[in-house]
Amino acid sequence: MKVSDKKFYWKELQSNECLCGDYKNPGKSFCYWCYGRLPKEMKNALYQQIGNGYEEALDDAVKYLGLNEVNASFSS
Ligand SMILES: [Zn+2]
Repeated sequence: MKVSDKKFYWKELQSNECLCGDYKNPGKSFCYWCYGRLPKEMKNALYQQIGNGYEEALDDAVKYLGLNEVNASFSS
């Protein structure tokens, strides 16, 4: 995954579509099911601010979940 644009993370966070394609609440990183599959430390890492570790936390979580359609869904 090669995403270096902060706007991607804002978009992903504010979207109502999880990277897996399911509905998620805007403001959450993932849907209920994806989030539930993450280890505790990855969940905690997602509470960091964008620009202060969130990007790395999201990237790690996406890799862990095996979600790879990131660029297709959110590139503009
Ligand atoms: Zn999901």
